[in-house]
Amino acid sequence: MKIPLFRSAASAEPMAAQLAHSLAAVLRSGVYILGPQVRAFEARLSDLLHGRETVAVGSGSEALLLAFKSLGVGSSGGGSALDEVLLPTYTFVACAEAVLAAGARPVFVDSAPEDFLPTLAHFRDARTPRTRAILAVGLFGDPSGLPELAAYCRDEELWLIEDVAQCLGAQADGKTGTGNAGSWGDAAAMSFYPTKTLGAAGDAGALAFRNPDHADKARLLRNHGYDDGQHRCLGHNSRMDELQACLLQAALDDFPDSIARRRAIAARYLAAWADLPIRLPRASAGHAWNYFVIQLPGPHLRASFAARLAARGIATRVYYEHPLHRHEALRPWHGARALPHSEQLAGCSLALPLYPMLGDEEIEYIIGVVRQAAA
Ligand SMILES: *Cc1c(COP(=O)(O)O)cnc(C)c1O
Repeated sequence: MKIPLFRSAASAEPMAAQLAHSLAAVLRSGVYILGPQVRAFEARLSDLLHGRETVAVGSGSEALLLAFKSLGVGSSGGGSALDEVLLPTYTFVACAEAVLAAGARPVFVDSAPEDFLPTLAHFRDARTPRTRAILAVGLFGDPSGLPELAAYCRDEELWLIEDVAQCLGAQADGKTGTGNAGSWGDAAAMSFYPTKTLGAAGDAGALAFRNPDHADKARLLRNHGYDDGQHRCLGHNSRMDELQACLLQAALDDFPDSIARRRAIAARYLAAWADLPIRLPRASAGHAWNYFVIQLPGPHLRASFAARLAARGIATRVYYEHPLHRHEALRPWHGARALPHSEQLAGCSLALPLYPMLGDEEIEYIIGVVRQAAA
């Protein structure tokens, strides 16, 4: 059997044929950017996020940058070049890029021991009088800690920005119907990169805001600051196209089922591997299971484990090879703070295939091969 790390629902029949039909209608309409499909998608995304105002943009990376600029964090959004943003160091590089592109300073925060996310205490310890915002990343689909962080940021008058790129569909209070990830912060940045829980067939992203004035600002920024004949500020070209908005509406139809399927697969993995000498991800309440990431005892055992899976046709991937503060481009921004747990995680984490398109036979095959490889 050959099992890739990801397979899009849009790639399989009859879905591919249905989508081709709706995409052809968009092509015939002649409207390709920021048209009725984008507006309809924004409205449906807003429903998913308990009525928050949403702004569709070109990618998740741009959504992060526009979040900071819309809130006025950093010199390029009207804040100060000394503004500090606390963010996890064990995450995707776009998080730090956005802070720096907004003209603010990233302050890297460690993960909790043997977990992927920092706790509130980690953020609190890194805080200084210059801290303006916390960037909370729902890494791998885990929305844990958002209620606590939201309360802290409200009391301390800090902005809370959620990076929901990997955890759209998660419920941070563990209940269904309330508390969706993306509705806790002052701003939330989403990515619809194909492998994310809500995936497009190309690049796309979106923002959600607590305050409609910030959404208005983001709407200006995504289209060169243009409004009614005037460039009211200088902005960006970060517009969603109609084809992606059309695909994303179809993906939203399927979204509750696809999150349920992810959760069912994760539950099977967790039950089947509970006795193995590998560390399984924490099954936190409301997890959206974008990626299923295990921990091996160290880099050498990880490499040999991944090689055993590859030999049986199962793809794996390392998220992330280094924490952000260990990358050449970001090292200058790292002070003296020790961040040992993130460094340890980078050396032992391994993502296994988990996505709605996995068939039951494939799931059983993965379960068996992992059992043999770990024994
Ligand atoms: C994917 C991702 C992004 C960036 O999204 P793009 O749409 O690829 O630009 C940002 N943050 C996290 C945590 C991500 O996983």
